[in-house]
Amino acid sequence: MNIHEYQAKAVLKKFGAPVASGIAIYSADEAEKAATELGGPLWVVKSQIHAGGRGKGRFKEPVAGDKGGVRLARSVEEVVENARQMLGSTLVTKQTGPAGKQVNRLYIEAGADIARELYLSLLVDRTVGQVAFVVSTEGGMDIEAVAEETPDKILTLPIDPQAGVTDADAGKLADTLELQEPARSEMIELAKILYEAFTSKDMSLLEINPLIVMEDGHIRVLDAKVSFDNNALFRHPDIVELRDETEEDEKEIEASKYDLAYIALDGTIGCMVNGAGLAMATMDIIKLYGAEPANFLDVGGGASKEKVTAAFKIITADPNVKGILVNIFGGIMRCDTIAEGVVAAIKDVGLEVPLVVRLEGTKVEEGKKILNESGLNVTAADDLDDAAQKIVKAVNG
Ligand code: GDP
Ligand code: MG
Repeated sequence: MNIHEYQAKAVLKKFGAPVASGIAIYSADEAEKAATELGGPLWVVKSQIHAGGRGKGRFKEPVAGDKGGVRLARSVEEVVENARQMLGSTLVTKQTGPAGKQVNRLYIEAGADIARELYLSLLVDRTVGQVAFVVSTEGGMDIEAVAEETPDKILTLPIDPQAGVTDADAGKLADTLELQEPARSEMIELAKILYEAFTSKDMSLLEINPLIVMEDGHIRVLDAKVSFDNNALFRHPDIVELRDETEEDEKEIEASKYDLAYIALDGTIGCMVNGAGLAMATMDIIKLYGAEPANFLDVGGGASKEKVTAAFKIITADPNVKGILVNIFGGIMRCDTIAEGVVAAIKDVGLEVPLVVRLEGTKVEEGKKILNESGLNVTAADDLDDAAQKIVKAVNG
């Protein structure tokens, strides 16, 4: 789960991280109040969307122009004017895709005088199985570009989970960032704060780009992007409260209600599969035969008929789906339950695209019988290979 920048800053502030004062707002009226309360002389008006690159992003009509989604303002009037332009408009950034995202919230923040922009993130480094810091002096810009062009300017530092962030670790980070006092000591403290926040809140990513050194020599978290591990959300009700469903894919929200592992993708073939491994293999084989999957969907081991019905409806509701492949290897999952769910969903919402079904394993004969007797237009497949070829052919012709 992702949260907004202002929410991430509030979380980090509780752990003691240095962030500016700021107020989140939903209307231009609130902007005036917030700006007055913060007092100036410099404010930043920041679009709150679940995507980065806002500063370099551009609004679509009706406020098209070259001002971007993060703007400095030097008077209350300027804050309000910018808020008026930005609220309700659609911001397109490198990360939103061409459709962009509507800006419904702004964060009005006390502005800082920046001396240096640095990069710092924490992530789960799977190659070493540890949480790692990634830091670079090249902050405020696209870190992927830095990684590609000047990889020597990036330090990745995995943290031993037993020891946590040692003074030696934190010192190495401060050295890499070329910090002098007081920023150096502040960075050493901040490294420990961020590691504590990351691990205790089960974050999967914490990115501060930029972390700044201000003209007065102190450091500050200027931008914050945080993602949480969904599988650990049950133990963080305070974090779940921060969820903004308007930022999420509707199909994924619906799927989460039924506890389905569903990820929307860009292709045309909807997949209903049991088991994450089989789901991955199914996606691979669809690609092998020249098409693209429209989603990843694992209905899980002991799915009920209702769950299968919901899953099938989510797939058919996607206008990009031009064909559906059901690929089930019945173990704990029973093929007849799958067949019942599919038939129930089609009776409810109809079926306008080709459907190929491959069933194998527990209660396979019963499952096939239900599909055969349903009178629905279902193409049966013998194995995974056959199934993938049939659905790709049906879609691509
Ligand atoms: P992003 O574009 O979505 O990554 O949004 P950021 O929060 O990183 O802001 C983009 C850029 O705006 C930063 O890299 C800064 O250069 C600038 N910026 C943001 N806040 C301030 C501020 O308080 N003072 C100044 N001078 N610039 C700021
Ligand atoms: Mg940024």
